[in-house]
Amino acid sequence: MIFNAHLSEIKSYEPGKPIELIIREYGIKQNDIIKLASNENPQGTSKLVQKVIKQNAKFANLYPDDSMFELKEALSKKYNVTSNNLIIGSGSDQVIEFLIHAKANQNSAILTAKITFSMYEIYAKHVGAKVYKTPSDTHNLDEFLEVFKKHQNEISIIFLCVPNNPLGECLDADEVYKFIEKIDKNTLIVIDGAYNEFAKFKDIKKFIDPKKISEYENVIYLGTFSKLYGLGGMRVGYGVANENIISNLSKLRAPFNITTLSLKAATAVLEDESYIKKTLKNNFKEMKRYEKFAKKHNIKFITSYTNFITFFIKNSSEICDNLLKKGIILRNLKSYELDAIRITIGLRAQNKRVLKELERLL
Ligand SMILES: *Cc1c(COP(=O)(O)O)cnc(C)c1O
Repeated sequence: MIFNAHLSEIKSYEPGKPIELIIREYGIKQNDIIKLASNENPQGTSKLVQKVIKQNAKFANLYPDDSMFELKEALSKKYNVTSNNLIIGSGSDQVIEFLIHAKANQNSAILTAKITFSMYEIYAKHVGAKVYKTPSDTHNLDEFLEVFKKHQNEISIIFLCVPNNPLGECLDADEVYKFIEKIDKNTLIVIDGAYNEFAKFKDIKKFIDPKKISEYENVIYLGTFSKLYGLGGMRVGYGVANENIISNLSKLRAPFNITTLSLKAATAVLEDESYIKKTLKNNFKEMKRYEKFAKKHNIKFITSYTNFITFFIKNSSEICDNLLKKGIILRNLKSYELDAIRITIGLRAQNKRVLKELERLL
């Protein structure tokens, strides 16, 4: 059967290998497996969230509140915006999909960094849009401006990942705001803040203020509950923007796109301040362990403002395969044509084991 031509150009997203697969393939026991491949929260699910899920399990027969009143209230309070400035997606991935469907098509293009979150490109190709990338691996706003000017009549969306996945670098908020002023108002600028809470904790200069973003005509901020908030399995993300952007995106949202339990979980975790603080503190304390290791072994890395660190290591594929046999799942960046391994910062014992095995393999 023949499918739409642009499907042939799509390389499917490569998710971190699931724990179940390692159990099946290598016969390793669940408790001996360390998964630090998908930037999930190593602290486990917030206890408060677990309680709320149990309390609401009996309502799974009912459709969720499609206005998402409680979660929007909680997010509005957090960011000092109104519920008309918010759209909720099944992960911020789904909001990216809405953005592409709202602003891109086979006659237009998107602009991204060379090495960045691959879903921007995948969704763009769903609609046959072209993808321009800046030449450097990491975000360079001069390059963004240059490529934008060259293809201005084609580019309808610019994606900035602040901080960037999978390399971990982070633009300053001031640079981003200045960049926004240089772009025409009919081009949508997407600030993907999936890890921005981590960056803010490390250095306040990196904090992108969603409220400020919502005051621009042509910019949207994306956030997710999958990383810091530890709800990757619940699939909740959001966009913050002015009412015009939100009302147009809302036309693309199918009803009941977020489950009842996911809405309850996301609303609850925003209240769990001790869980959030613990996650942030552990993350940067443990990050130092990796930085020290890299320096000792002359491994190149970029200072990370996220919950992962990327090591540039020559035989990354071989090392990742060998680690898998030991039950350690990391993210090989071969799919980005990089000899590099992205490691989610885990708990102390996990990190120690990872580094011990890595040392043996180097
Ligand atoms: C994880 C991630 C997302 C979205 O994750 P969801 O689970 O779909 O909310 C978006 N952007 C980046 C850069 C990410 O790393």
